[in-house]
Amino acid sequence: MKDSDVIVVGGGPCGSFAALHLAKLGIEVNVFEEHSEVGAPCHCAGHLSIGGLRLLGLYPLPAKIVENTFRGATIHSPNGEQFRIRFSSAITCAVNRVLFDKYIASSAMDAGANYFLDSKVESLIVNNGSVKGAVVKHRNNEEKFLAKIVVDAEGVAARILRQSGLFAFNSRDVAKGVQAHAEGLEGLETNMVDVFLGRHYAPGLYGWLMPTGDGKAKIGLATKTRNPRQLLERLMHRHPNASKKLEKAKISKVSYHPIPLGGPIVRTFSNGLLVVGDAAAQVKPTTGGGVIYGMNCARTAAKVVSDALQSDNFSSEFLNRYQKRWKEKLGLEFAFMVRMRKMLDSLDDRRTDDLIRFCTRIGLDKAFQKSHNVDFQRRELLRLLWNPRISLSGLYLLLLISSCNRKNLMYHAHVKDGLKEND
Ligand SMILES: Cc1cc2nc3c(=O)[nH]c(=O)nc-3n(C[C@H](O)[C@H](O)[C@H](O)COP(=O)(O)OP(=O)(O)OC[C@H]3O[C@@H](n4cnc5c(N)ncnc54)[C@H](O)[C@@H]3O)c2cc1C
Repeated sequence: MKDSDVIVVGGGPCGSFAALHLAKLGIEVNVFEEHSEVGAPCHCAGHLSIGGLRLLGLYPLPAKIVENTFRGATIHSPNGEQFRIRFSSAITCAVNRVLFDKYIASSAMDAGANYFLDSKVESLIVNNGSVKGAVVKHRNNEEKFLAKIVVDAEGVAARILRQSGLFAFNSRDVAKGVQAHAEGLEGLETNMVDVFLGRHYAPGLYGWLMPTGDGKAKIGLATKTRNPRQLLERLMHRHPNASKKLEKAKISKVSYHPIPLGGPIVRTFSNGLLVVGDAAAQVKPTTGGGVIYGMNCARTAAKVVSDALQSDNFSSEFLNRYQKRWKEKLGLEFAFMVRMRKMLDSLDDRRTDDLIRFCTRIGLDKAFQKSHNVDFQRRELLRLLWNPRISLSGLYLLLLISSCNRKNLMYHAHVKDGLKEND
């Protein structure tokens, strides 16, 4: 068996979730994964919202996949100010990403999807401007596989995407992530996640610490501008709060991987081609979480592929409905989060300290008590906007940003003047 209705490039969570839904609909699907094992190497913290997993029909997960559950988070500013949000029940969990990816892939296989491991898609087969299959390298052999549609779920590398002529994300919007395991930690609160903000430690995103039990935790950060490993060392040894927990920690399984934070690519479809997950940058720009949104889009892609097969129409005009559908669900959320990311990036560390202090002082956590939705952040904020604590902190954030912008403008004017003088 060689050719199929659909080819999926990549056996990550988004590729396998698309394959699962396609196979469930009785569609013949071949999944090509370049590594010899699904899920490995792992580069992800695996912090997922329980509500998001429920919406995907995946919660409860088999117990061995879930490493811990969390009732809230402590957000730390660069100088050690803390803001805590704690809920009455668990709202997020840490999953073992290797086991999680294998679980989705084996569900897809059980439903009838064919997996080809050690099989790298080298290029797309394009005929008359339409994708018709893929050239796959398995060990030293290259083989052609034909299909009516290709679903590109290759992740952030986006090599196939670039070949297809679709516009990939801008490298300026990509953060460099580092993820590691730590043991021998002290003073951990096992059902709370720690988030570390600040340009000094993680410019462009943040650092995280997720306890997994017995003095162990997953730690990491992502940064747009500096060396992530050096910043992780700085966070572990110099941050006033992180260093108390991490100073004596032993670090292992350090991995590096990029995270696209600029919001989805402009066009996620072409003739005979759909793009899902990290390859399409369907990642939350506020948190860097890409699993829940990417899998949501992968499920939408599977439904559109099924419609296309029924109509025997694989043109970009038809497949455009994939983009319309995921945008209906997530478009405004992405637009909101892109703006939030820009706002947060514009804050300097002193103002981040001020913001966190302010949130604690006004008891902002109380406003979020009945809010359990961490995925649909815009919708949730709009729902809570009537709450004076929310509107007050929104105003305060805007005030901080405008004072930062003023400072930046003054700085640039100063530099320009300086240049003039030197000229
Ligand atoms: C440090 C770090 C921490 C993160 N933490 C979180 C988190 O806590 N929560 C969260 O939701 N998200 C997190 N993310 C993001 C998350 O890892 C991604 O959004 C998610 O893995 C995207 O899934 P995907 O299936 O699109 O891509 P991937 O998981 O990258 O899977 C793509 C697959 O395609 C394969 N592949 C690539 N090219 C080819 C090819 N040419 N032929 C065949 N196979 C190919 C790859 O081997 C891979 O298996 C984190 C990312 C990083 C870097």
